Amino acid sequence: MPLTEGFPRPGDRRLSVNPFYGPANPLGDMAEAPPTHRLPAQPMAPATAHQLVRDELMLDGNARLNLATFVTTWMEPEAGVLMAECRDKNMIDKDEYPRTAELERRCVAMLADLWHAPDPASAVGCSTTGSSEACMLAGMALKRRWAKRNADRYPEARPNLVMGVNVQVCWEKFCNFWEVEARLVPMEGERFHLDPQAAAELCDENTIGVVGILGSTFDGSYEPIADLCAALDALRERTGLDIPVHVDGASGAMVAPFLDEDLVWDFRLPRVASINTSGHKYGLVYPGVGWALWRDAEALPEELVFRVNYLGGDMPTFALNFSRPGAQVVAQYYTFLRLGRDGYRAVQQAARDVATELAGRVAALGDFRLLTRGDQLPVFAFTTAPDVTAYDVFDVSRRLRESGWLVPAYTFPENRQDLSVLRVVCRNGFSADLAELLAQDLERLLPDLRRQPRPLTEDKGAATGFHH
Ligand SMILES: *Cc1c(COP(=O)(O)O)cnc(C)c1O
Repeated sequence: MPLTEGFPRPGDRRLSVNPFYGPANPLGDMAEAPPTHRLPAQPMAPATAHQLVRDELMLDGNARLNLATFVTTWMEPEAGVLMAECRDKNMIDKDEYPRTAELERRCVAMLADLWHAPDPASAVGCSTTGSSEACMLAGMALKRRWAKRNADRYPEARPNLVMGVNVQVCWEKFCNFWEVEARLVPMEGERFHLDPQAAAELCDENTIGVVGILGSTFDGSYEPIADLCAALDALRERTGLDIPVHVDGASGAMVAPFLDEDLVWDFRLPRVASINTSGHKYGLVYPGVGWALWRDAEALPEELVFRVNYLGGDMPTFALNFSRPGAQVVAQYYTFLRLGRDGYRAVQQAARDVATELAGRVAALGDFRLLTRGDQLPVFAFTTAPDVTAYDVFDVSRRLRESGWLVPAYTFPENRQDLSVLRVVCRNGFSADLAELLAQDLERLLPDLRRQPRPLTEDKGAATGFHH
């Protein structure tokens, strides 16, 4: 929800849409357009309202061509039907909708198993509206555990959280909302994510945890979670500081278990206390559902947990919201059931194949330099080659829009603000055929771009409203 600050009050306008939209008496019903920034005084026919809203929405971008988003833009019709059937169920009403509550528990159990919780039966977890809420919950658990360990010094001591400068904005929110100092490991040269040693060096007695990202929204790379844990093991040896790790697996926690089984990043590492993922990213469900899991009950302080009625007893819950739709949780269970491990592997492998193939096509054009190749998350970032001076990534982004492609361009943070990139997120539904069309459109643009006298985007900040 954007935080809006009021609108001018337009005078009454004649409704100048198609008279066919008026149901009973087309002309009589169509005399006056409804105001758009205050409640209309009178009701209108559903068909008219529907059409007015639809007409306006035509100007939104096409979600399937939105290569900026990680969020699911295609599901099977069966999933759509199931979601429509569940749209009236409130996730918090565990007692009234016990089967929906049970499906949520099964999803948590499946994820605990997938992420190698030492004892899946004792792992705890919950659904959320997305990874942002999951990260708030995980961060709160870290903060509370640290406060309990340091009860003698808290609240005077100021807690801090260590993470790479490439973290998603939800971690800045967490630090802001919960008054935790964000200690950011900077990028360095061609390293665009956290360095384990540098992270360990930022830790002190007030560090509530370290966040590792699987994988980075900036370039799709996996952060080295096992090395991070090893660096923190060494820190413990040296100093006695025992710092837990949270893995922000918003995307990668639903990719790596299927495509990179040998990569050890999850609860197999004893230092990993909690993991989140976005069910609505590579979990393959429409927005908004996320998941947060803790390795055991000890990792989630009991006093943060609230209880709601459930089948005559009570059920523990941990959430920021109270009411929340149940449909996405049902759709997540449907997708788990429908695809299984082999199905997920096939879908994610297809996305990775499209990403690596398309990255190769882009590199072959000669004008670009790849930062990543799409072989971790099915995501790659690229920039213009050093000898390209006639245009920049912002020009490319703008020109691609002419063919309907939404490919964001953005500047890297501090230490690499000289670097601006384009990023392509390949998802289920972005087929090899569509990728080929994108590659052809990009190739067709190049002669034009090369003829520019100079890059045309003056205000780079305004060039893209993109915030990961
Ligand atoms: C998308 C993302 C988030 C935020 O997740 P939402 O589900 O959009 O709330 C957090 N961290 C990372 C690494 C992400 O990719």
